Amino acid sequence: MEIRSLVLRSVKALSAYEAKNIPCRIKLDANESPYNLSSEDMDIVRNSLSSLEFNRYPDPQARKLRAVLARRYKVKQSQILLGNGSDELISMLIACFGGPVLYPVPTFSMYGIIAKAAGRRQVEVKLDNDFDIDTGRMLADIKRVNPKLVFLSSPNNPTGNCFSSERVLGIAKTAPGVVVVDEAYQPFARSLGSNVRRGFLPLLKDYRNMVILRTLSKVGLASLRLGIMIASEEIIAEVNKVRLPFNINTLSQEVAIKLLSGKDSSAKAVKLIVKERERMFEEIAEVDGVVAFPSDANFILFKLEDPNMVYNRLLKKGILVRNLDKVIKGCLRVTVGTPQENSAFIEALRMVMK
Ligand SMILES: *Cc1c(COP(=O)(O)O)cnc(C)c1O
Repeated sequence: MEIRSLVLRSVKALSAYEAKNIPCRIKLDANESPYNLSSEDMDIVRNSLSSLEFNRYPDPQARKLRAVLARRYKVKQSQILLGNGSDELISMLIACFGGPVLYPVPTFSMYGIIAKAAGRRQVEVKLDNDFDIDTGRMLADIKRVNPKLVFLSSPNNPTGNCFSSERVLGIAKTAPGVVVVDEAYQPFARSLGSNVRRGFLPLLKDYRNMVILRTLSKVGLASLRLGIMIASEEIIAEVNKVRLPFNINTLSQEVAIKLLSGKDSSAKAVKLIVKERERMFEEIAEVDGVVAFPSDANFILFKLEDPNMVYNRLLKKGILVRNLDKVIKGCLRVTVGTPQENSAFIEALRMVMK
């Protein structure tokens, strides 16, 4: 029996996602927070462990955690669905609504990867020259292919910018399907006018087809794998039907409940990262032969003549960034690290570019 001949055509066409583990001194490639828990928070986590029932299944509905998050986001508990990372939520959305799945490019690769794995048609629409939504092109394609789902990452990974809110809302108003605004990096966004201060959350009530994704991964808790979907009760109830029963494990539930119940312990780190981002932007922009793109996220996209050479020489100095040359010609992406890591990166970049 030929195993490969048993595999679905849509799966055969895939290759496994390689999350490379490249050894390095300074890791600035995956948009993680450079800060581990404070020793205070670490104690809170340690203390919560002794009361856990490791022999029991987790709470299938994660009720307590959803209640904590509902308070934090000022929505009803019935408007929240949790995933094992927002990756799982993207997967559930596609399992629930199907395709075509439409998204602007370049953007987060998982929309396409998951749609492809599910055998759903993907429609990619180029962003404009400012990396903003090309409304004309997008609306034309929406009309043409009638997508069940539109994914908009704002701030967008890997370009770093927020899409203009009028354009996002224009899409949400016109699209015949569900419009997902993936706000993985929203905590790092500058406030760009009144209605985006809390991202698109306050606008949910006006757009019945809108879904918002948040995650704890970029704000210091990537290890927990906790993605948060916020939408109307109606949408949540439908997507919940395709969720596997115990998708959020007890450890992640308990740790998140304990860490998120008090004051927002990630706020200070986020503030520092934003400040460092602004410093890094100025300093990268000053390096001869490098163009930096402004960012509302915890990373900076920058462009230069020979990205592969620069990537390799940075790595030789122990600094790992993301090589995006194949996605956006000439571009590398660097995650904002600690002030010391950022200074080491800048210095290495200056030396390499000399
Ligand atoms: C990192 C990232 C995610 C992944 O979130 P997880 O919760 O870690 O699965 C989702 N969307 C975008 C745009 C990202 O960059």
